[in-house]
Amino acid sequence: MAKIPQKIEKMLNEQINAEFQANYNYLGMAAYFEGSAFKGFANWMKEQAEEEHKHGLRIFEYLADRSAKISLGELGIPKSSFKSTKDAFETALKYEQSTTASIHRIYDAALSAKDFGTLEMLNWFIKEQVEEEASAQDMLDRVVLAGNDPSALLRLDHEAGKRKAE
Ligand code: MG
Repeated sequence: MAKIPQKIEKMLNEQINAEFQANYNYLGMAAYFEGSAFKGFANWMKEQAEEEHKHGLRIFEYLADRSAKISLGELGIPKSSFKSTKDAFETALKYEQSTTASIHRIYDAALSAKDFGTLEMLNWFIKEQVEEEASAQDMLDRVVLAGNDPSALLRLDHEAGKRKAE
């Protein structure tokens, strides 16, 4: 296979950074919930953080398979204070929407560059982002529904505590 186009290589390296930043951001949210009664939400965020770690590694390994240069960058300090449970899940949904947009931008660039290997690799991410957005949206919808009712929130927290990363 032809060498990976330089522009795509750069974008994929940036995406590795974004996935590890997402890992860190979700850990920040987990830290927020660890400081509250909602240990189930903390678990949900830790499981999500683990997914992000795997996403980053997946692109890392793809670049290695294409004999491309892997460049790792810095991570920013994640946010770990939120106004409410709803605020945290709204933020999670926004992260996922921005990740989807970023994956689509790389896909578009790979399409223009006729980089078929990258397109195939990104197909997995496109499907994954549909699920990621759906699961964040689903949690947010239920948190909104629970409102300020502690028993409803605790039931939801209990559910979230059972989440296991695939
Ligand atoms: Mg991700």
